[in-house]
Amino acid sequence: MSSVAPEAELDVAVIGGGMVGLASALALRERDVRVVLLDPGEARARTSYGNAGVISRGSIFPMSSPALWAKLPSYLRNADRGLRLRHAHVARVIPWTAHFLAAARTSAWERAAAALLPLTSAALAEHARLADRAGAAHLLSRPGWIKLYRTDDAFASAELERAILRRHGIALDILDSDAIRDVEPALVRTYARGMLLPETGAVSDPGALVEAYERLFLDLGGQILRQAALRLVPVEDGWQIHHAAGVVRARQVVLAAGAASAEIARGLGYRFAFAAERGYHRHFALHPDSPPLTRPVLDTGAGSILAPMGDGRVRVLSGVELNARTAAPDYHQIEAASREAAGTLRLGAPLDNRPWMGVRPSTPDGMPVIGAAPRHRGLIFAFGHGHIGLSTGAITGRLVADLATGATPAIPLAPFAPQRLLGWPCWRLPKEERRSA
Ligand SMILES: Cc1cc2nc3c(=O)[nH]c(=O)nc-3n(C[C@H](O)[C@H](O)[C@H](O)COP(=O)(O)OP(=O)(O)OC[C@H]3O[C@@H](n4cnc5c(N)ncnc54)[C@H](O)[C@@H]3O)c2cc1C
Repeated sequence: MSSVAPEAELDVAVIGGGMVGLASALALRERDVRVVLLDPGEARARTSYGNAGVISRGSIFPMSSPALWAKLPSYLRNADRGLRLRHAHVARVIPWTAHFLAAARTSAWERAAAALLPLTSAALAEHARLADRAGAAHLLSRPGWIKLYRTDDAFASAELERAILRRHGIALDILDSDAIRDVEPALVRTYARGMLLPETGAVSDPGALVEAYERLFLDLGGQILRQAALRLVPVEDGWQIHHAAGVVRARQVVLAAGAASAEIARGLGYRFAFAAERGYHRHFALHPDSPPLTRPVLDTGAGSILAPMGDGRVRVLSGVELNARTAAPDYHQIEAASREAAGTLRLGAPLDNRPWMGVRPSTPDGMPVIGAAPRHRGLIFAFGHGHIGLSTGAITGRLVADLATGATPAIPLAPFAPQRLLGWPCWRLPKEERRSA
């Protein structure tokens, strides 16, 4: 890893070396911009390391949906397997909660889906391009993924999701119990229905993909400083980035520090409606007599994902825990998810000593923040990718590079503007909903 001379003339400093920061740094280097990337550097600390590796065109649905109101009582009782609330913490993220509730309506859900579609549609191709350059194409495949429903009622309740997917031309195949067994014979649990989304890629080792992109960035002449940015200070001709060992100067800064981004932005006076959605994983070996699991599956009844990670390993991933980013891990959810997984696949003993925890950088409307800071020149925000940051991180990098170099972004960025999360939500129903209410 290189050190950076304090007097070095850098064009851009990128804060954060997860998928979003790394892809931004890479895209800037590809345009010959002089870039330094700051990250304290523990690979497992990145959420980009431990996710499910799903890159799906159909991942366009924010967690705050019109179904929220029916689910709220079970959410509040922590009776839903997909979400665990630390009640005391919810009071500390009131702006996030207010925006989250305000987004739980059909029109907002549909708008967010339409805004996210260009990002998710470009995600796989951009990863394929980068992985190819990075010599990591073997980590990417395109097996599709399946959402599994344990009952016909659960399947019926996802009708709006299917209608929106179809409206956007996203391919999907509906499977009955027999068809599920045919396409994924490793599943021993009987599911009522499944939805196969074939336009979906899978990464067999997301941590290795991030590391391959990091090597590519260095090969292209990028610099990495293994330091946490402690303070960002605007100066006349750009920025000073203070870290424990000194100061870096750059004309522009990209803030892409995942779930830590809002705290860093707060130092400059920006109070984002933002929260940490923690998630866990644990690895298991499939029983030697089991057929392989050939694609990631989401068991909607368990609120968890099972993803094949190569070498016969299965990664079991939990749903969402809403809690402080830095609070001690709470393994309740991943233990429950692991028990459910043992009824779904023929699993052996866990392969890790203890589960991994990561933190999804969460915006309440399910859309990332990508755009110029409203009150500072030369500061670009790129964070809040929630459940889809591994997949949409790569294309976000291109958009950040467009912003930093003055090019017109290839995808409309208005829906991702930082301003929308810097105040209170608008509670008024839009005209079309007022008419139908
Ligand atoms: C259980 C689970 C399953 C998931 N599954 C998927 C999936 O299948 N597909 C998908 O697309 N997404 C998935 N995600 C979401 C995805 O992993 C995240 O959206 C993504 O990793 C966010 O990337 P990031 O670069 O913003 O953050 P991170 O990967 O967390 O990187 C942030 C980086 O910033 C650094 N940093 C923090 N503070 C500072 C500082 N002060 N100075 C410098 N650097 C700093 C950190 O060290 C870290 O390396 C999942 C997440 C979880 C938890």
